[in-house]
Amino acid sequence: MKCPFCRKGETKVIDSRGSEEFEIRRRRQCLACDRRFTTREKIEETPLKVIKKDGTRIPFDREKIRSGIEKACYKRPISPDQIERLIADIEIDVQANFDREVPSRYVGEKVISALRQLDQVAYVRFASVYRNFKDVNDFVEELQPMLGRTRPKRGRRNTE
Ligand SMILES: [Zn+2]
Repeated sequence: MKCPFCRKGETKVIDSRGSEEFEIRRRRQCLACDRRFTTREKIEETPLKVIKKDGTRIPFDREKIRSGIEKACYKRPISPDQIERLIADIEIDVQANFDREVPSRYVGEKVISALRQLDQVAYVRFASVYRNFKDVNDFVEELQPMLGRTRPKRGRRNTE
């Protein structure tokens, strides 16, 4: 985005947050004249690209993320609404923290940490596929903190 003052400088995002639903407030700074200004951007108006490991860019695809999460949540006590909210939270987070492009790794890690809060089984399923564990030891390492717990984790958010 061009600077509105000097009209030549490229700007960087220095702070941003979702104010209302589907709107992002971004504090920007011009890299040429250093002046700061705030923009309000509709999420729909800023199509987001995901940077893959090999450097190629693909559109941010909610459906693709949803299908990965749904697979991980197969036969788990997680409602479609919960999955929907999880994806929406990730999308808002990404829109708030990145300017048009986000590394695929960031999105993947966000999904993993959200699932970790939601359901341990879904979390391990997703993480194991996503991170392509090199061998079983890596996988066991990931499981350790869960196996160490004494109580089963059913309905953890309500019972603890
Ligand atoms: Zn400027």
